[in-house]
Amino acid sequence: MTAPRLDVDLDVIAQNTRVLVDRLVPRGIRVTGVSKASLGSTAVAAAMLRGGATAIGDSRVENLERLRAADPGTPLTLIRSPMLSQVDRVVRGSDQSLNTEAVVLAALSAAALCERVVHDVVLMVELGDLREGVAVDEVVDLAATVAGLSGLRLTGLGTNLACRSGIVPDQDKMDQLSVLVDLVEARVGHPLTVVTGGNSANLDWAFGTDDVGRVNELRLGESILLGTEPLHRHVVEGLRTDAFTLAAEVIEVQTKPRRSWGTTGQDAFGRTPHRGRPGLVRQAILALGRQDVDPDGATPPAGMSVLAASSDHLVLDVGDHGVVVGDEIGFQLDYSALVRAMTSPFVRTGTSGPAEPLPAPVPTRGAA
Ligand SMILES: *Cc1c(COP(=O)(O)O)cnc(C)c1O
Repeated sequence: MTAPRLDVDLDVIAQNTRVLVDRLVPRGIRVTGVSKASLGSTAVAAAMLRGGATAIGDSRVENLERLRAADPGTPLTLIRSPMLSQVDRVVRGSDQSLNTEAVVLAALSAAALCERVVHDVVLMVELGDLREGVAVDEVVDLAATVAGLSGLRLTGLGTNLACRSGIVPDQDKMDQLSVLVDLVEARVGHPLTVVTGGNSANLDWAFGTDDVGRVNELRLGESILLGTEPLHRHVVEGLRTDAFTLAAEVIEVQTKPRRSWGTTGQDAFGRTPHRGRPGLVRQAILALGRQDVDPDGATPPAGMSVLAASSDHLVLDVGDHGVVVGDEIGFQLDYSALVRAMTSPFVRTGTSGPAEPLPAPVPTRGAA
């Protein structure tokens, strides 16, 4: 088989989704599965839906268009604020988007009217993480603006914490969101059906609280795909961490000194490497590098460790393992390593479970 290769176990993804859905739904919270780290894979999205997710969210219009073409019936949300230059594709490729800018909302409404659709809008509120979001004291006015745009329907409010500044989505933040929902409803005169409280960083709060307030949705990517939560990178209870395995091929195995020799300058990435301690190491070189994966987020099998990585070579201490040239070594990935592997044109993907090919990377240069 070809390498490097990302093996995806779709049953693990479906199972992780099911575990989360079964714990959240009794608390009044449904799950939107976030597919962006899988490049909007239709197979991954289908596994999330099989596990009980009610909708799919993605940050890229290209991914949403692919998902829409594969299954026009799946509710799709653009979870990044739309580009002004893409509003027509946004209203065609998704049912709903997360928004913060009046100028974008006006353009979305015009595009929706052109397409003869009504586009659903969730307004994102800034609660301290300082990425996307409208200031708390401007939310009600912006909601009234949306209510006045005939191509749009205001479905709800949301917030996103943790991603930029690591701010924890705690009871206080979620209570603030719930209060705003009441204020907006009073102003626009209709109930909001979507209160999307955050991402995988919200799980600790969601499982622990005895008052979810008005929050009725979470947008979950990392926890479903990797089994971890983003605040401390702990494994979420009951979830599996082995949905993705990156297989790489061994191209050299030699016993070498641990300590390099000669005069030391910088390595390929501008760092001055340590000379290494005395002694020998059984080392393998893999045809895998920074063009394929973030080596800091790739974990080799027990008893092996990563010694170094350049663009195209990864050097592994193989310990007592009987590794030979041509062998494949499997790595578990963190979020950063997964995203790099998924977006690398050198990494092929293969699925087990109900088969459907994963997407090729979206062409970004020279495309119409
Ligand atoms: C990426 C993203 C998510 C999903 O985050 P995870 O930590 O992967 O669960 C949710 N909402 C928004 C706005 C995002 O950008």
